[in-house]
Amino acid sequence: MALIVVSGDGRVLDPDRPLLFADDLAALRGDGVFETLLVRNGRARLVDAHLDRLVRGAADLALPAPDRAALQRAVEIAARAWVASGEAGEAMLRIAYSRGRESAPGGPRTCYLTVGPVPGRVARARREGVSVVTLDRGYDLPSAARAPWLLAGIKSLAYAGNTAALRQAAARGADDAIFLAGDGTVLEGPRGSVVIARGATLLTPSPTLPILPGTTVAAVFAQARAAGIPTRERRLTLDDLQAADGLWLLSSVTLAARVHTLDGTVLGASSCIDVPALLEAALA
Ligand SMILES: *Cc1c(COP(=O)(O)O)cnc(C)c1O
Repeated sequence: MALIVVSGDGRVLDPDRPLLFADDLAALRGDGVFETLLVRNGRARLVDAHLDRLVRGAADLALPAPDRAALQRAVEIAARAWVASGEAGEAMLRIAYSRGRESAPGGPRTCYLTVGPVPGRVARARREGVSVVTLDRGYDLPSAARAPWLLAGIKSLAYAGNTAALRQAAARGADDAIFLAGDGTVLEGPRGSVVIARGATLLTPSPTLPILPGTTVAAVFAQARAAGIPTRERRLTLDDLQAADGLWLLSSVTLAARVHTLDGTVLGASSCIDVPALLEAALA
């Protein structure tokens, strides 16, 4: 399995040599931010949107601003290195940015990129869609602003809760999950944003909720509006998901995964809005 590792300043590193110090706060606390990008035909997609979110997340964590221009170059170098390694297909590019070493407060931050194969589950999720269970997020917040320390709007390296939710979904025989707040408000998936079609309109949960603003849903919504399809950000409930004309989980690498089954019930698929085609147009 090919793995490319590139430093934040654009040096291609040996993927078989250790990179982190034992006391890196990425490893000990998940204290930092990351991004996951799709690489297609040798180029990473929606790079500006991902770098914008990385910079915003770093500021929210009181980390120094990453060198955006250097990162942009590093992304290009990493994507080219993937192609140069003889890999022809799509790839998953990650950027990790952490607070650095615990023993060196205020010292250099840790920043690196990896490129590797797209996970095996992706092809089937794109082709056949996914089954999803709803899971209680464990809190009931009207807005993310009330408890910013939950880091809900940040793509935080502290992801173990999300992977635990995915294990729970798998234990219940599902491919993925959608979190609900205690009052039934739809939030997001552990690794993807929720979008529904209702009639001729696309809807997604309001970004004032404690959820991550997705780059994929933003790209799809911009494309939809350009095509004359109305889009709305609003509070959605479980009833809205069950009654939707189409339900998707959107994310950078899996892209648009249609939810065919929700909590064991097969969903209707009457929507005439082609969300995957909108996304393909946005990525082109
Ligand atoms: C990454 C992620 C998403 C999807 O974001 P994209 O920018 O579309 O890839 C949604 N929710 C969570 C919790 C995520 O970590």
